[in-house]
Amino acid sequence: MREELQKIAEEARERIADTSSTTEINQVRIELFGKKGTITQLSRRLKEFPPEERPLFGKLVNDLRQELTGVLEEREEAISRREKKIRLQEERIDVELPGRKPRRGRPHPLLMLIDEITGIFLGMGFDVAEGPEIEWDYYNFEALNIPPEHPAREMHDTLYITEKILLRTHTSPVQVRTMEELRPEPVRIIAPGRVYRRDALDATHSPCFYQIEGLAVDEGITFGDLKGILTVFARKIFGKDRVVRFRPSFFPFTEPSAEVDVSCGCQGAGCRVCKNTGWLEILGAGSVDPRVLAMAGYDPEKYSGFAFGMGVERIAMLRYGIPDIRYFYENDYRFLAQF
Ligand SMILES: [Zn+2]
Repeated sequence: MREELQKIAEEARERIADTSSTTEINQVRIELFGKKGTITQLSRRLKEFPPEERPLFGKLVNDLRQELTGVLEEREEAISRREKKIRLQEERIDVELPGRKPRRGRPHPLLMLIDEITGIFLGMGFDVAEGPEIEWDYYNFEALNIPPEHPAREMHDTLYITEKILLRTHTSPVQVRTMEELRPEPVRIIAPGRVYRRDALDATHSPCFYQIEGLAVDEGITFGDLKGILTVFARKIFGKDRVVRFRPSFFPFTEPSAEVDVSCGCQGAGCRVCKNTGWLEILGAGSVDPRVLAMAGYDPEKYSGFAFGMGVERIAMLRYGIPDIRYFYENDYRFLAQF
């Protein structure tokens, strides 16, 4: 009997010594002293012994219970000390660790460019004007000499809301709204804003993009004034050694009309940005058509003017050599942080 008890004691001590966590200690406690625990079972065997041996057996089991309880508690204390130490180490705060800097926000490159372009024209005496993005067909087309059924409407891929209301396809309606407001005072405005087209998003098209419109109306304004203003603008944006050229073109609301090119930074050597032509097409412009002036309430015999319009994304792509318009809309910080 003693041998059996000794064996049980030995196994129990080994089992306790092997524990390494509070959870394991609790497990062993149940294995020894739980309802079906080894020691609990031993006490139940008391009846198996003849009455005269019972006191001795009872004492032996009791001694064993006490001993093992002590060993278990000692082990538990050691483990809990160690666990506490580890926890403290894990929770330690390194006060000398450098802080993580928050990323600084910055204006979007397109908005920075709009500010820069607007600033150039403000410096030449222009004011900023704005108009609604949801626009009447009248201001977007008719008042700009584009009546219903005019073929120019097809080029605009218009998003209509109703038959008479649409998302403006260009910033040119701001020309008409401003003239109606200021007539017969002289006009010098720059009108930046969002415009919409029924275009799928690809490398060079977007259903929503930025334009900047310019308009000057006064007595005695000539095409020469337009050339001067746009040459100053193009050189401020692309570099003061650049050459500007005007190619004849057609817009319903200007006459004569021109496409304006600026010489490429490759200086005619040919590159990816200018597609080896040496020239970058940056905007459309012209003298305000007399019919547009008349519709807006200016006497075309007395007043003349010029207008121009440019795509902001296009200017940015040409200036920075960005091959894909989608970079502007994806909000990839690696792209945006370069400006
Ligand atoms: Zn080039």
